[in-house]
Formats: sequence, structure tokens, C-alpha cells
Amino acid sequence: MEPLAEERILGVPVDVADEPTALAHLIDLVKLGQPAVAVAVNPEKVLAARDNPWLLRFLEGAALRIPDGVGIVWASHRQGGAIEKRLTGMDLFLRLTEAASKEHWSVFLLGAKPGVADAAARAFGRAYPELQVAGVRDGYFPLDQGGEVAAQVRASGATILFVAMGSPRQEHWLFEHFLETGSVLAMGVGGGFDVVAGRVRRAPHWIQTLGLEWLFRFLLQPRARWRRMGSLVRFAVEIRRQPV
Ligand code: UDP
Repeated sequence: MEPLAEERILGVPVDVADEPTALAHLIDLVKLGQPAVAVAVNPEKVLAARDNPWLLRFLEGAALRIPDGVGIVWASHRQGGAIEKRLTGMDLFLRLTEAASKEHWSVFLLGAKPGVADAAARAFGRAYPELQVAGVRDGYFPLDQGGEVAAQVRASGATILFVAMGSPRQEHWLFEHFLETGSVLAMGVGGGFDVVAGRVRRAPHWIQTLGLEWLFRFLLQPRARWRRMGSLVRFAVEIRRQPV
């Protein structure tokens, strides 16, 4: 298996991978059977990883750090890097689910509000009738029950675990409990179940093509997102401060 090229954005590792490369990499990892984690890296996570040593360690150990966000592409371009296009965690999540259905790998959906993971499982069932969903669970459990949740995933026998608890909660839970889950591949998918279940709308394709999905999300949920806009600005300032 070819290793992916890695780049550092403000010292935080991100892999150089387009969608086919990233998907092939994940499929190879599952076939290999060695436990692996995939995680999307956006500007917010880069800043968080600089402030939180555990998150940096988690990213260092992840098998795939997805270059998610126009900010990452811009930063890479500025430092003469090779990340040319944004790859959203959301798109990769959908492609991986499709692959799981073809390969007969069972999946566990962990996260989002009660009822959402079930709704996402039903939506997936309509799109991919062959998909085996080993289990679902919402993401609103107390942190001291993290081990019980891992035991539930293990008991389900799922091969692939999707975790949609937002950041950094999903990364933190995976950092502490992934190896207890017995699953081969885990991927953090943020608000992905809300989208699959039809509770949250994604930006239209043309807005995504223009690299403006962040603005769309901000206009849809200004209260929830304004803090995040602040970190985008901070990220841009820090990148510009770097010597070119
Ligand atoms: N969530 C959860 N447990 C929590 C807090 C949040 O499962 O304790 C879920 C929430 O319901 C939503 C997702 O995590 O489905 C967060 O979505 P967001 O779009 O904010 O994800 P991010 O942008 O952080 O990837």
C-alpha cells in the first residue's frame, strides 16, 4: 500500500489526497484489517490541534487526515504545497458508505440527536439496500459513559464506525475509546448524519464549487457559527504571518 504524501499546515499534518486516492486508501486499510482512523482537518481543527496536544497526537496517529476546507487548500498553495482541491469529509463519508455496501462491511452510526442516526440508517437503506447497519446510537451520552458506548459498538461487530458528534467531542471519544470498539475503521463525520437524515441542508453544488460553503453555513445558522468565523480569521492571519 502506497503511503500518502503528508503536508504540515501550521505544524499540523494533513494528507495530500483527492477523493479517489483517499477512498482507495481507506478501502485498502479495511482489507488489511489493521485498526485505522480517518479524520477531516479544517482550519478550525488546525488551530485546535496547536492548542491541544492530545488532538495533535490523535491527528499524528490517524491513517487519513482529509484536507477539508478551502482554507486548507489556500494555506497549502501559499506555502508551495500540493493540496489542490478540497475534499469534504461529507463526500468521503458517502463514498465510503457506498463502498461498505458493495463490500458487505457492516457499519455503526454513532452520534447526532436521538432519532437522527436511525433516520440516517433508513435513508442509507433506501440508497444502498445491501448496506448492513450493525447498530446506531445518539451522541448525547455523558463522557464517563464513553467506555459503555465503545462496548456497544464492539458487541455489534461493526467493521466501520462513523462518529458524528462534532469536534472536538468525536475526536476525543475516538482518541480514548477507538481501540475498544473492535471496528477496523472509524471516521469522524461531524454533522454528517443530520445531512443524510435530511435535517440539515448542504450548500448547493455551485456554492461548493466557489468554495463558499462556510459562508452558506454561516448564513443558515449565524448564532451557532459566528465563533467559528472568528477562528477562520485567526487561521488566515496566522498563515499570512508565516514567511512565504
Ligand atoms: N453532537 C452530538 N453530541 C454532542 C454534541 C453534538 O452527537 O454532545 C452532534 C450534533 O447533533 C450534530 C453534530 O454533532 O449532529 C455536530 O455537527 P456540526 O455540523 O457542528 O459538526 P462539525 O462542524 O463540528 O464537524
